[in-house]
Amino acid sequence: ETTAGLAEMNPETRTKDGVRVHLFANINLLSELSTARDLKAEGIGLYRTEFPFLIRSAFPSEEEQYLIFKRLFDEMAGLEVTIRTLDVGGDKALAYADATSGANPQMGFRSIRFCLHHRSIFEQHIRAILRAAADFEKLRIMFPLISSLDEFLEARQSVKDCITALEHENLAHHLKPEIGMMIEVPSVVEIMDGFARESDFFSVGTNDFVQYTLAVDRTNEKVADYYRPYHPSVLRGLARIVKSANDNCKDISICGEMAHEPEYIPFLIGIGVRAISVDPRFLPLVQKIISSLSITQAAKHAGELLSVETLKDARNLIQAGII
Ligand code: PEP
Ligand code: MG
Repeated sequence: ETTAGLAEMNPETRTKDGVRVHLFANINLLSELSTARDLKAEGIGLYRTEFPFLIRSAFPSEEEQYLIFKRLFDEMAGLEVTIRTLDVGGDKALAYADATSGANPQMGFRSIRFCLHHRSIFEQHIRAILRAAADFEKLRIMFPLISSLDEFLEARQSVKDCITALEHENLAHHLKPEIGMMIEVPSVVEIMDGFARESDFFSVGTNDFVQYTLAVDRTNEKVADYYRPYHPSVLRGLARIVKSANDNCKDISICGEMAHEPEYIPFLIGIGVRAISVDPRFLPLVQKIISSLSITQAAKHAGELLSVETLKDARNLIQAGII
């Protein structure tokens, strides 16, 4: 699969009418980096830091994390890396922490909430990232599950505090990472312009955005039929988010599963998405689909989808694709 894709891959992705779309890779494990490089990803759009945490019996130390992240940055030298801070809890259970307790872990004490309440764990994590990227140029740090502007500012302040502390300790570190956030919680939509002022960039986690917009636990098979990314409220929410980021000249990419699904790519391009991050195995497919689209057709298709109100009408339009 990978080798076949390699032969077809072009280093630059453009629509049929010549508009550039940037393709990045989602990475869970360091072993996937070679596929991302082979398939000409422009960088890492989402590095999920929690994987080394999940397989252990206690939190890895700052030094242990440093060594993992150092390999990430060494292997990606010259490219851009967006690293997401610890997103534990919900579907990513930790046996040794309180991030998964409670009746509904998806709505619980998880992700950035857990980190802001466990400052020393969060700070060791951020310090490890900053130190490992000391000689790495294009570092972007982003926070998962942000639900208020206050929370984003608090998390960003932690990164700034870690930079100040590392300076005092005379430890080599990255001096000025771009600091951004994931959009996964619908409460962000109404105050998006405020986020667009403060955040350096955005990445939309549609897996969680769909889950929380539709009140459907993404891990509960009993409600899997209710998990509908084509729901008009999901589509309109995404369109508003992307417009606000674009109006404010802030980079925005889509990194959830929707980004590699052929039926949603025309809509995403049509609402103004120009960066996508997918599991590297999907890069050839995504590039092929984007190369076959024209912006005018995609925008028209998106406009039609944004005008419907029922699931049925939205599903029919999505299935029909661009006609
Ligand atoms: C998402 O929620 O869409 C996302 C990319 O993050 P994760 O799947 O790791 O929750
Ligand atoms: Mg998520």
